Amino acid sequence: MTSPHVICLGEVLFDYLADQSGREYAEVTSWTPYPGGAPANVACGLAKLGTSSAFIGCVGSDEAGDTLISVLRSDGVEVSGVQRHSTAPTRLVYVTRSEEGERTFAGFGDLDTTRFADAFLNQDQLPVPLFEAADFLVLGTLELAYPQTRAAIETALQLCEQNFVKILLDVNWRPMFWPDPAQAEAPIRALMQRVDFLKLSDEEAQWLFGTMDPGVIAHRLGQVEGVFVTAGAQGCAYCLGGNEGKVPALSVKAVDTTGAGDAFVAGLLHQLNQTAVSNLNDPQRAQAIVRYANAVGALTTTAPGAIAAQPTAAAVDVLLRQVVSY
Ligand code: ADP
Repeated sequence: MTSPHVICLGEVLFDYLADQSGREYAEVTSWTPYPGGAPANVACGLAKLGTSSAFIGCVGSDEAGDTLISVLRSDGVEVSGVQRHSTAPTRLVYVTRSEEGERTFAGFGDLDTTRFADAFLNQDQLPVPLFEAADFLVLGTLELAYPQTRAAIETALQLCEQNFVKILLDVNWRPMFWPDPAQAEAPIRALMQRVDFLKLSDEEAQWLFGTMDPGVIAHRLGQVEGVFVTAGAQGCAYCLGGNEGKVPALSVKAVDTTGAGDAFVAGLLHQLNQTAVSNLNDPQRAQAIVRYANAVGALTTTAPGAIAAQPTAAAVDVLLRQVVSY
């Protein structure tokens, strides 16, 4: 197997989605588990598009861990960097839904958020050869909540700096994962200073920068190559290689928006991986990259689940050809 171009590091877990929408956690009577976790979703999305990817994270020595590893593997994701904890269980998270389909993270059942296997990623077991060969690392921020995993992320960042691996951060703000959400902002801000590409939702941009303008955010960060502010069905505003613009979302029949942002990131990296840095200065090329990412995000909303609905490159090309004026 060739060395993966993109490493995705962080959580892989089961989303327990409420079968009954419009109910509080205590009133839900049954749940359906879906494989998820943003970096794992990105790894699968990339593999489906044809860009080789690896996932690094920690799961328990339990059936859920076995199943998640086989989901990654069956999509073609390299899993040699997945660690197994001997006692802590694989993470699961309960997700309730409003009548309109809006999702809310409702908790972790009986266990404290700090007790799951993904809180214990071991820095000494990071697969160094993957970093020596990769072009990109994808990170989120919720695993910064756990000291041991945060130390492993620091080691991963150093490996990237030593090996010229570009870093993409998807802020993906999830206060529920933090024992004390008030502790989150400082490490998130520190991490944003070290990345090459930054993706935020419009709410996250407003929270962290007081603006949704990617050009202003890029200017404030100084050294970043690309900033993408996504807004669901409103599309994406971007500043890439100095080019600023907005690309509307594609009009699709959305049934489940879970994982749209992760699919967008996969689409983005699939394109960035094929683009020389100097070409990002071309406004047309920059816009085409974002348009492609929007198409991957849109297609993922057309069927339930974050991973199951991710498109192949052929499906993305069909959609983009249909929308001639897009
Ligand atoms: P996140 O899940 O990170 O908040 P978004 O919901 O903003 O991310 O989705 C990322 C991208 O996916 C959007 O910029 C858009 O291009 C596409 N997308 C999301 N929801 C829809 C939708 N309902 N219809 C069409 N495209 C969508």
